[in-house]
Amino acid sequence: MAPGRTAFRARYLFPLASAPIANGVVTIDAGRIFAVGRKPDGCKAIDLGDVALLPGLINPHTHLEFSDCEAPLGAPGMPFPRWVPEVIQWRAGQAAGKPAVPRGLDESAQAGVTTVGEIATPGWSPAAFGKRPPRATVFLEAIGLARDQVDQKLAEAQEHLQRAATQWYWRPGLSPHAPYTVRPELFERLVDLASGAGVPVAFHLAESPEEIELLATGGGRFRDVLSELGVWDPAAIPRGTRPLDYLRRLADRRVRALVIHGNYLDDEEIGVLAKHADRLTVVYCPRTHAYFQHRRHPLPRLLAAGARVAVGTDSRASNPDLNLWEELRFILGAFPELSPEAVLRMGTIDAARSLGEGDAIGSLEVGKRADLTIVPLEDGELRDPYEGLFHAPRALPHLFAGA
Ligand SMILES: [Zn+2]
Repeated sequence: MAPGRTAFRARYLFPLASAPIANGVVTIDAGRIFAVGRKPDGCKAIDLGDVALLPGLINPHTHLEFSDCEAPLGAPGMPFPRWVPEVIQWRAGQAAGKPAVPRGLDESAQAGVTTVGEIATPGWSPAAFGKRPPRATVFLEAIGLARDQVDQKLAEAQEHLQRAATQWYWRPGLSPHAPYTVRPELFERLVDLASGAGVPVAFHLAESPEEIELLATGGGRFRDVLSELGVWDPAAIPRGTRPLDYLRRLADRRVRALVIHGNYLDDEEIGVLAKHADRLTVVYCPRTHAYFQHRRHPLPRLLAAGARVAVGTDSRASNPDLNLWEELRFILGAFPELSPEAVLRMGTIDAARSLGEGDAIGSLEVGKRADLTIVPLEDGELRDPYEGLFHAPRALPHLFAGA
């Protein structure tokens, strides 16, 4: 028997790279997947019983600084721009050094998540991302509508990329926050920086109708809120701007980008996302979308067009918890026309690809990191392996997280 080699047998394996395997066995060695099939390879299999064994879940969009929120901020259905000051006020009331980020990482791990895409603000602490799962891509957030903020924000981004060179439990990314908080010039320069460094970008886009109106006209409720906050610059965004303009820039710059939310994308914009699906991914945040009572998400149109979609929780400022599995179940309830397999892909392999880690995680394949998550299955016959998969309200804490 090879030392350090371990095998797990489950009622069903969901490798994602191939069809589900009944009575499947995954053999791992030195933190990597060594074999996937029906027999243990070089050791005795530990029988996990009546469970499904999946690749570790991947949540590509969180803001873990809000993990201490007991309930979402504001009120369900409130206009999105009015929620923004609630967030600012909540932040101002938080004592420095509160362990919200470790708490959010723990909550994620408890829900079977082995990788996150985290939006961090300047001054964030890498110490929270210790040598334990989940691993993170840490996107440094930049906010700045004013011209005189551009140089400072670029310097912060450069420092973030340099700091990351010595860290391996987190990887760097950059996050120009959103069209209504970032000057187009700053957006472009951050995208160029990310493209040159080969790191991904996360950008909130087409989240609310008020954002679309602000870009088009320079007016509306968002202008009112930004003016009240003292940050609105009427010259920052040219009139007649659309989310399409930002998508084209992301496509032109050949950067890997996560387009967060995409609630109000139109067909032309969906076409650009589909054409560039190798590098652009929409990250749909289902229960956050529902909290603000947005119109129906264009998820089926995105998938039908061939765009890549992953699923995120967003934060506890707009979601009751960080349970990614519950987001996937929510999608199946809201879009019964979608197959369970398509939904599972959004929480695993497509999320891995969104972060540029499709070769390392997101499916059970030989050589990939052994990030494994278990979901309990109900007793009784299943006509189809997927039939019982989404009955359980949560995945169990990750069984193993690879080297
Ligand atoms: Zn967000």
